[in-house]
Amino acid sequence: AESRIEENRDGTIIRLQGGFYDVMTPQGEIRSRARGNFRKRGISPVVGDEVVLHIESETGYILEVKERQNFLVRPPVANIDQALLVVSAAEPDFSAHLLDRFLVLIEAKDIQPIIILTKMDLLQGKTAQEVNEAIAAYRKIGYHVVETSSETLLGVELVRPLLKDKTSVLAGQSGVGKSSLLNALEPALALETSHISKSLGRGRHTTRHVTLIPLGEGLIADTPGFSNLDFPHEMELEELRWCFPEFVALQDDCKYRGCLHLNEPGCAVKVAMEAGEIMPSRYTNYGMFVEEIKNRTRRY
Ligand code: GDP
Ligand code: ZN
Repeated sequence: AESRIEENRDGTIIRLQGGFYDVMTPQGEIRSRARGNFRKRGISPVVGDEVVLHIESETGYILEVKERQNFLVRPPVANIDQALLVVSAAEPDFSAHLLDRFLVLIEAKDIQPIIILTKMDLLQGKTAQEVNEAIAAYRKIGYHVVETSSETLLGVELVRPLLKDKTSVLAGQSGVGKSSLLNALEPALALETSHISKSLGRGRHTTRHVTLIPLGEGLIADTPGFSNLDFPHEMELEELRWCFPEFVALQDDCKYRGCLHLNEPGCAVKVAMEAGEIMPSRYTNYGMFVEEIKNRTRRY
């Protein structure tokens, strides 16, 4: 009985496998089960959940799932601190529209975005100037932008410290270099890259559960989040307004409370826009998102 160690310990679920939950604790990984009474309460633990374990002879029993900070449905992950929003400088072309859309989706979930520009080695000519201007503009808004290349390893080491003590998820369209970036950070991961191998592997990926991998003293989801680029049903225009930080900074100066910065007289955002203080593409994209949400509301 003396060798039988019993104790309670906090941890994070990093993997679901064969009915077990693998929980990362400060003392290492513990294979765990959910207690029956816990299941009856209708809570199913997911990857990312912070739990309290009762440990008996090296097996954990989940006693409690702590309140979730946030939750992504696809893939199911809880308590995400930040999203590494991966956008390519080229191949596929840099898209401010896609970047703004992802930023809204991420901000709406109260997740901190970090913009990772990939494929900087492919940037040349006229587009180089456009992309560099965009990078400067997003930094001016207050976004953290890291310029990287998985080919030359430019900036890759700037990503690692950003992961420390955080649970991160990758976001970004297919082909921008998400797997390549993770492989550059941790070659042992040997994730499949390029379209061909991944489309072949897709069948496997859909049945597999998301896993949090320890990387850079933090945890990162091995499956990208935000693959559905539609705005969520519950998202209202009021909420969209709060997803553009540079507009939020000005909105107290708008004449109307709840100004949507469209055609309202005395709108401070429009004034700033006309003075060249707001990125024109941000304002255009915002207007397109407003229309999209309005039309969607009508549809449902
Ligand atoms: P994912 O779909 O976002 O995971 O993208 P992948 O990591 O699979 O990369 C897609 C393609 O872009 C692959 O052929 C990679 O070799 C290539 N690629 C990724 N990162 C870079 C980079 O920094 N520079 C260059 N030149 N190619 C890259
Ligand atoms: Zn306004």
